Order: sequence, then C-alpha cells, then structure tokens
Amino acid sequence: MVYVRGNPDDYNRWAAQGNPGWSYEEVLPYFLKSEDANIPLSDPNYHGTGGYQSTESFYTTELGNAFIQAGQELGYPLTDYNSPQQIGFSPFQATTRFGRRASTATSFLQPVLNRENLDVLTGARVTRILIDPHTNRAYGVEYNRNDKKMTVRANKEVILCAGALQSPHLLMLSGVGPKEQLVKHGIKTLQDLPVGQTLYDHVAVFNFVFSTNVSMPSLPDLFNYDELLRWYKTGQGPLSAPISSEAVAFLKSNHPNPLDGTSPDFEIVFVRQSLISDNGAVGRRILRIKQEYYQKMYGPLEGMPSISMIPILLHPKSVGCMKLKSADPYDDPLFYANYFSDPENYDIRIMIEAIRFMLRLTETEAFRKYDIRLISDPVLGCEHLEYNSDEYWYCALQFLAGSAYHQTSTCKMGPKHDEKAVVNHELKVYGVGNLRVIDNSVIPVTLAAHTNAPAILIGEVGSDMVKKDWGVL
Ligand SMILES: Cc1cc2nc3c(=O)[nH]c(=O)nc-3n(C[C@H](O)[C@H](O)[C@H](O)COP(=O)(O)OP(=O)(O)OC[C@H]3O[C@@H](n4cnc5c(N)ncnc54)[C@H](O)[C@@H]3O)c2cc1C
Repeated sequence: MVYVRGNPDDYNRWAAQGNPGWSYEEVLPYFLKSEDANIPLSDPNYHGTGGYQSTESFYTTELGNAFIQAGQELGYPLTDYNSPQQIGFSPFQATTRFGRRASTATSFLQPVLNRENLDVLTGARVTRILIDPHTNRAYGVEYNRNDKKMTVRANKEVILCAGALQSPHLLMLSGVGPKEQLVKHGIKTLQDLPVGQTLYDHVAVFNFVFSTNVSMPSLPDLFNYDELLRWYKTGQGPLSAPISSEAVAFLKSNHPNPLDGTSPDFEIVFVRQSLISDNGAVGRRILRIKQEYYQKMYGPLEGMPSISMIPILLHPKSVGCMKLKSADPYDDPLFYANYFSDPENYDIRIMIEAIRFMLRLTETEAFRKYDIRLISDPVLGCEHLEYNSDEYWYCALQFLAGSAYHQTSTCKMGPKHDEKAVVNHELKVYGVGNLRVIDNSVIPVTLAAHTNAPAILIGEVGSDMVKKDWGVL
C-alpha cells in the first residue's frame, strides 16, 4: 500500500533509451489522472484528484515524527517524495481510502465490473498464448479452469499482464524467448527474443532491530474495541497504517553515482515495530529466518520496546535473470536475483553507506530522546570481524539482505537496436503481431520507486495506446 512513483530522472532515462512517450513530462499527466489524493503534506502540483486510485498519508506516531526531525537535523528537507524534490524525509503516502486498502482491483476494476464488454474469469490459469505459426500473430489464450482446458479468442489483440515473474514465463511457454532455452525444453521457437534476460529487484534489509524507550502497542494489541471503532468511524489511527511503516527517507550516497542525476540511490523506511515485536510469530516466517538463527540472534532481545529501519538499494547494478525449468506451465520458472553481483561492488558499497546513515540518525537529538540504538548486533556469523568495518557489513548483508519484491524488466521495453528489448515503446512484442505486454516486466531501467505506482502508470499509458490503435481515442 506504499505509494511511490519514482524520480523524474528515472522516467527521462526511459525516454533517453529510445522509448518516445515515456519522459517524466509525458507520464506525469497519467499519474495525476489515476489519482484521487488526500495527502495534507504534499505538493498539489504533483497530485491529482477525482481519479480511480485513492491515496492518503500514513498515520505517524511521535516516533515517526522523530525520524523526520532526525533527518531535518542532518539538513534534509521535509518533502513530498512524489514531487520532483524526492530527496528528503517524508511521511509515507498510501494507496488507501478512508484508512482501508485501495488495491488496483477495488479501485479500477470493481467500479466497472458491470460493463457489458467486460468478462472477468477468476480461478482461471492461463497456460499459453495462442500464436499462429504461419503469421506469427497472437489470436487468443489457452487456460485451465475447473480442471478444464479452455481457449478464448481475441478479435483485436492479446494483452499480457501477468507481472514481471509470470509474463516472461507465459511468453516462453508460447514459443517467444531465448531460442537456446526453448529448444532445451522442446518448445518450438516462434520468435527468438531476450525474454527474462534482465531482472532488476530492490534488495532490502528488514531485520535491523533498534531499541526505543517508548513502548508501542504491537499489532495484536491494537485489535481492541476502541482502536477498531476509531478506524471504522474515522479511517484514522494506527490500524490505518499497514505493517506499521510510517515514514521514509530518499537519499543520495557519496559514492560516484553512475546515474549522476537527481534520483536517490538508497531509501530508509521507518517502521514503528520490529521483527521481535511479535516474538518471531509472523515476521520471522515471512523473512524465512530459521528458528534456530532467530532464537540465537533475536531471542534475547524479545520483550524490549523496539523499532526498525529498512535500508533499500534503489538503483542496483547487479542484474538477475529468469529461466524456464520445464515446458510444464505449472512448473515455476527459475529466478536468479544475483544481488550484490556487480563486479565493481557498487551495490554493496551503497548499502553499507545506507546502514551507516541509519547509525548517524541514531546520534541525532531527535533519536537520542527516544534512546534509539541498534541492538541486533553483532550479526551472528560475523562476530569475528571488526565491528562497523566494511568487511563486517559485507558479511552482515550476506545474512540479512532479501527481496523488497520489486521485480521488473523481464520483458524490457526498448528500441529495436537494444539487444535486451522484448517490447517496443508501444509495448508491442517484437516479431509477434497482436500481442502487447502491459505490466512491470516492460520497465526498462531501475527506478527509485516502490513498483505499484509504476504498474498503475503503465496500465494508464498502455490503455491509451490500445484505444488509440483501435480508433477509440
Ligand atoms: C508482499 C508484497 C508487498 C508489496 N508491497 C508493495 C507496496 O507497499 N508498494 C508498492 O508500490 N509495491 C509493492 N509491492 C510490489 C507491487 O505489488 C508490484 O510491483 C505490482 O503489483 C506489480 O504489478 P503488475 O501488474 O506488474 O503485476 P501483478 O500485480 O503481479 O499482477 C499480475 C496478475 O496476473 C495474474 N497472473 C499471473 N500469471 C497468471 C496466469 N498464468 N493466468 C492467470 N493470471 C495470472 C496474477 O495472479 C496477478 O493478479 C509488493 C509486492 C509484494 C509481493
């Protein structure tokens, strides 16, 4: 539910790579079009009202405000990160309405479900795009529903929007992908394309635990009559702030930035709870920390009031990829994230700087007032290394880092001469007629965003392209 669009520079790089129509100036009207903003601390020039997608501010406690003050003490502005001034500290903006989740399904789809020209099939799993091998044109999809194999035919075109993990899978199953992989799994190659050859993700550390002298109620404690009534009647209060994220900082490191623009290269998320707040009941399992490791590393901290901060790398140089496991559509494909694999160690150096920045925050007046200190250290497995040395953090990141679930670029958009491009700037698959991809797999470059807002943008721009092509715009 976190709503972050990314930096103007990011979108200008889409356009500069040979994708007309995708510069910041061109995409901003689409962000404004979809939004129905109710965000007091925001720049009205960069927010829309009356659109399908409601956005609001997250609830912030005194601790979240202290995080923002700590940033100001270090000289950073209180900013609206969805304006061009992304660098600074801000309360989070959320895709909620009246304190309730406003997903794209409830915001965009539900209001139009009664349209006569719309059929939505749930519980239907697409297994293949149907492409005529003589003309290389898509003419429908094959899917399974209630254990029955069905097909649906397209009058005009097929639009693939199964996301950055599944769209490339479906293309490959349908004969569109790297020839060598398709041949290996006995799939006839209809179009040799670098599907799945680019995979970006944001690597993050969710399990730094910091002390505080303020005891915040844990989520189960908040499910009491008063808080539920407050949330139900006003849409306000801590129950309106999912997973207790409150505020965020977007920052630029001191390392030479290969992008060299206004886009931040790391982010710090402030959360008013931590991994130990529920004694490892839920968070530990989500983060897949083994019980034994959790007990040794975090068990002794249980019961202490705590918060966490999450550093996130925004512009990784490390590139992952996706490969087919087999030709069976129900066999999940293989993903190789390749975090921290860039030969110059750019990614790891930025992350170490992000961690040291968090430690600097703990030295500010605003944080000292709340006795905010890192307590989940030394990291188990790295005790033999000098604390706070680069080697120590390098080791710690091997244990702690994980996915922020912001995968993109597996069907990358680009001009024809781009060796990694799968779709053109109109999102049409190269070499296959009547087939478009409209989801996060087309994103051509890394983004200083959480990837829901860009997905909404791609949907807005893509739908206008479809309408224009078929003469209804
Ligand atoms: C746990 C988690 C938390 C996140 N939190 C945030 C956040 O707070 N803010 C943010 O900005 N981003 C967040 N993200 C990322 C964000 O959800 C995604 O970037 C975004 O949803 C991508 O949109 P998409 O349309 O490209 O793909 P998706 O949202 O993945 O949509 C693809 C759809 O296709 C369907 N599909 C796939 N394969 C098939 C098939 N074979 N047949 C039929 N249907 C199929 C899927 O069920 C899905 O509904 C989070 C992601 C995760 C996993």
